[in-house]
Amino acid sequence: MFCIHCKKEYDEKYIIDAKGNRYCSEDCMEQYMEANDISFPPYPYEDTYLMLRNSYIELLDGWESTLNRATIDLEDAVDELMEEIDSLIEDHYDFILSEGDDGPYAWEIYQYTNKLKELQQRIFAWRPNRKTLYWITSDHGNYGDLGEAGEEVYQKICTDLYLAGYEEFILYVTEHLQHPYHWGLNYIFDNLEMAQEAYEVLLTVCDKHGVDLRMVNAHKCEAHCRDILEADADTYVNGWFYCYSCKESDHHGVYSVDELDEWIRYYNENETDRQILIHEREEWCFPFKKKIRRSCRTWERELPEWAI
Ligand SMILES: [Zn+2]
Ligand SMILES: [Zn+2]
Repeated sequence: MFCIHCKKEYDEKYIIDAKGNRYCSEDCMEQYMEANDISFPPYPYEDTYLMLRNSYIELLDGWESTLNRATIDLEDAVDELMEEIDSLIEDHYDFILSEGDDGPYAWEIYQYTNKLKELQQRIFAWRPNRKTLYWITSDHGNYGDLGEAGEEVYQKICTDLYLAGYEEFILYVTEHLQHPYHWGLNYIFDNLEMAQEAYEVLLTVCDKHGVDLRMVNAHKCEAHCRDILEADADTYVNGWFYCYSCKESDHHGVYSVDELDEWIRYYNENETDRQILIHEREEWCFPFKKKIRRSCRTWERELPEWAI
């Protein structure tokens, strides 16, 4: 557990030399070699080891921020990382077969394939730290429905705000905070204090016109379709939060184990349909195959050739 050079405890990023000695860092290894006048001849698998170690450390340090920064469908972002790691593991399949039985580097490479599998489990179980947004709405998401005279009432509310000296305010919210999919009095804030202030301002004017105003907690759809909906909407799929249409699309989450087995059986037996899937002749093929791959991962089924 301790670096052979500086005697400090090493972590996951340790590095080994050709004899299998462990160092906390590359610097420590170099200093130790110099101080003790050691040099090893090129050793089998050394480059492979160093490259895999680098890839592992990069993934370890970067996977979470990669996902937090992702602007694509988050389940897709997870899938991409999983598949990147799959191919990294597959590239070192020989070391898995021999269980690392060929010197210290081979052993470490084998260990990395196991560590990568553990990392995959963490990534697969990851769900975003959901940011709460504050949605001020006069119609609770009914697509701008302020009643029959919706447009007229909305104009009156805006006019009243202008007259009351809130010209800048109304310009700012309509320009920057309008709900991406809902017209009228539907504004999204990411700051509670600002939202409360705006709510107070709007409330007095809305009351006057008999418009019911509410402020609800909201989240973004995790397929990154831009939709934002109430935080307590029951639109979770496998722990992910989706808008209604993304949930309806049926592309997300995983199949139950029975459904998966049924699909695998069906496409193994039906050559014509299988060809459609393999050549992705229809639009649904691509997302369907992704869901099959995700389901196989979840239920530890061998991935059928047609789903690759
Ligand atoms: Zn050290
Ligand atoms: Zn969506």
